[in-house]
Amino acid sequence: MPLLKRSRELWLELNKRTGKDIFQATGGLYISPPENPRREEEIAKIHNLTIEMLSGTQVKERFPVIEVPDSWKACYEADAGFIVPEWSIPAYANIAREHGAELHENVQVVDWFVEKDRVVVRTSTGERFVGDKLVVCVGAWAQDIAKVEGLKITSSR
Ligand SMILES: Cc1cc2nc3c(=O)[nH]c(=O)nc-3n(C[C@H](O)[C@H](O)[C@H](O)COP(=O)(O)OP(=O)(O)OC[C@H]3O[C@@H](n4cnc5c(N)ncnc54)[C@H](O)[C@@H]3O)c2cc1C
Repeated sequence: MPLLKRSRELWLELNKRTGKDIFQATGGLYISPPENPRREEEIAKIHNLTIEMLSGTQVKERFPVIEVPDSWKACYEADAGFIVPEWSIPAYANIAREHGAELHENVQVVDWFVEKDRVVVRTSTGERFVGDKLVVCVGAWAQDIAKVEGLKITSSR
């Protein structure tokens, strides 16, 4: 939850910096049947979040476009929203460049290894990059590229 709160701050900062609504706070509604236990109230209390718990009837009154049985429950979070990735990715890429990052696009990392206490990365273009540290952020591809001898990485949700 602290990560989520911090990321919200950063998205709002990006909106200001770019003058674009990259993060759009539309509000979020999480609906579930009565047999599903909901923990939003408990979590919201712990992390000081503003939410509203609604019955199915209240959901229909507030959001007539949503058809939900009266017995269902929902959590409405006014601060929730969505990101426009087509804007956010170039925006962060530009900020990285402004801070001295060199971006190589459409290049695949083929493998990496440690050589004399330094990390060597080889790419599909045949280039080699050498550095003190390596940050692997390949998402769901981590199992292919983040192999470390003796360390078993399993991605899960
Ligand atoms: C259909 C779908 C809907 C989603 N909806 C939401 C949502 O509504 N809200 C939400 O919060 N999350 C959502 N997610 C999850 C969210 O997209 C991921 O959690 C997030 O993108 C992960 O970010 P990441 O930077 O770790 O990895 P990614 O965004 O996957 O980035 C990894 C990057 O590494 C690159 N890469 C991989 N291997 C190599 C290699 N060998 N060499 C070079 N580059 C490489 C990939 O091309 C990719 O660009 C959704 C995911 C999916 C699939």
